[in-house]
Amino acid sequence: MTTTTGDPGAGPFLSVRDLYVRFDTEDGLVRAVDGVSFDLERGRTLGIVGESGSGKSVTNLSVLGLHDPRTTHTRGEILLDGQEMTGATERTLERLRGNKVAMIFQDSLTALSPYYTVGRQISEPYRKHTGASRKEAWERAVAMLGKVGIPQPALRAKDYPHQFSGGMRQRAMIAMALVCDPRLLIADEPTTALDVTVQAQILDLLHDLQQEFGSAIILITHDLGVVANTADDLLVMYAGRAVERGTVRDVLREPRHPYTWGLLASMPRLESDVAVPLAPIPGAPPSLLAPPPGCPFHPRCAFVSEVGGDRCASERPVLAEGRSAACHLSAEQKRTLFDERIRPRLG
Ligand code: ADP
Ligand code: MG
Repeated sequence: MTTTTGDPGAGPFLSVRDLYVRFDTEDGLVRAVDGVSFDLERGRTLGIVGESGSGKSVTNLSVLGLHDPRTTHTRGEILLDGQEMTGATERTLERLRGNKVAMIFQDSLTALSPYYTVGRQISEPYRKHTGASRKEAWERAVAMLGKVGIPQPALRAKDYPHQFSGGMRQRAMIAMALVCDPRLLIADEPTTALDVTVQAQILDLLHDLQQEFGSAIILITHDLGVVANTADDLLVMYAGRAVERGTVRDVLREPRHPYTWGLLASMPRLESDVAVPLAPIPGAPPSLLAPPPGCPFHPRCAFVSEVGGDRCASERPVLAEGRSAACHLSAEQKRTLFDERIRPRLG
């Protein structure tokens, strides 16, 4: 028997191919995601890093079909467990969200409804998904609130979101995302607003989810330290494109893209006694209304002359499958420039 939706169970759990996302705005067309591809296997964690505005959230909101179709143009292929997500009906997407797939949003206020108690917002999806009784589901919600570090969870479950602090709302949303044991969890800057202890607690919960259910996790973060400790694979994004990919170990040890070098150099080093001054990447990311031709990073890149000619300004570098960096420097140049000019500065 053949199916048009592919073969669940075979191939990567999530496969994104040549994704383009554009927004119609008053100012023009925003090219938020510009040809991004990646795969994610069951049981693995993909870290996505990049400066603010690089398209990390937009990419992942597309996976869940959460963009407004009236103003968003999406092209490309998103296969989740063999099922095509682009163009899936709202009903299919509804069923997948909060069941097979869950997302921890960057902004907890948009994810929680002001009209229902926190406990209800966590217990209802669980009841719907598992068929548990109201009482069981409520108990599960209280347990989840405890797990994410909400004190007196049985009491606080009866609160409305506005009675929670920002950090507590963030944790409530994490509880909501985890309550149905999703097989794909997209965590968009999940711990940014949280203190270090709670942060560690949350990362432990993600780890447990993965151990128990073989879930795949996408972890979007600014924090390369978090990525180093929790992710298996890494995707570096810049100006709506994926510019470097590989295992976390390879990318952090032998980064090959000048943008990744910049990110590493601007990252505060916690383990060092002396506060190492940050070396921010000069300049700012380009406007996505009119991204530069060629390599989007070339206006900020210190190595354009090493490539020579106007290649960086005219020819778009390609990101290959597997270990790759979308940069016109030769493999040899990437290695020697990193070893001689960048590594010594990283300390
Ligand atoms: P990141 O998560 O990497 O910080 P985003 O994915 O949120 O970045 O945004 C990528 C780009 O798309 C930004 O320039 C942002 O302003 C733009 N953008 C995001 N959502 C919308 C929208 N709904 N309408 C118009 N532009 C948007
Ligand atoms: Mg974001």
